[in-house]
Amino acid sequence: MLSIQNLHASIGDKEILKGINIEVKAGEVHAIMGPNGSGKSTLSAVIAGNENYEVTDGAVFLDGEDLADLAPEERAHKGVFLSFQYPVEIPGVSVTNFMKTAINETRKANGQAEMPANEMLKVIREKSELLEIDRKFLSRSLNEGFSGGEKKRNEIFQMAMLEPKLAILDETDSGLDIDALRIVANGVNKLKSEKNAIIVITHYQRLLDYIVPDFVHVLYNGKIVKSGGKELAYELEEKGYDWIKAEN
Ligand code: ADP
Ligand code: MG
Ligand code: MG
Repeated sequence: MLSIQNLHASIGDKEILKGINIEVKAGEVHAIMGPNGSGKSTLSAVIAGNENYEVTDGAVFLDGEDLADLAPEERAHKGVFLSFQYPVEIPGVSVTNFMKTAINETRKANGQAEMPANEMLKVIREKSELLEIDRKFLSRSLNEGFSGGEKKRNEIFQMAMLEPKLAILDETDSGLDIDALRIVANGVNKLKSEKNAIIVITHYQRLLDYIVPDFVHVLYNGKIVKSGGKELAYELEEKGYDWIKAEN
């Protein structure tokens, strides 16, 4: 589904990604771990099409299609969803209205009619219950005054509503207490299917107790320096990142 081939990306004249190769098949969960400043957020931003980064070599393919010439919203319409490490606040736009717009824009881009209002309400109710989101929360301005945990839970709510083909969660676990972590992980696990894939970016192993990855990759200094199964996450938890740094 997702094929990242020899991806190099820079910001200004600073090269941040230095030749990344990852293959993600439908039905798989991949975790990307690594110390701060390794390029994890950069990798997710480049996949999502953030135009602040320049791809200087290599490519990202989604279902065989080179994403290079697609704008972020076109990638989103093709089913790429990125949950941000630092979600933005949008005063004056309620959670519900944001969600309605996101869903209907996606449908329109894919040649589908708008979702009927009653169906929309039903889906919003179902998904908010799944993520244990209070109904009052839905009429608040998007992310404005939300706690760290509420922002993250709201990101997963968006993901549950949009049912993306490829979901990338960038440190969704940071700032979550254990209950919120479990709720978020439950939401992700319920979304998981044979038709979609999930990339979980995390600094810590903790989230991976709840969202069990098929593959773990360690990103360090812009390169994947190690890949393995879920046991690699436990090894990192136990030994930290210093040995990775020493080996590279
Ligand atoms: P991680 O998510 O693994 O902590 P990032 O992708 O955020 O790493 O950052 C990787 C490197 O790129 C860091 O050295 C960071 O300082 C640098 N970087 C990221 N974004 C920018 C930017 N907008 N301008 C300059 N440097 C940046
Ligand atoms: Mg960081
Ligand atoms: Mg980051």
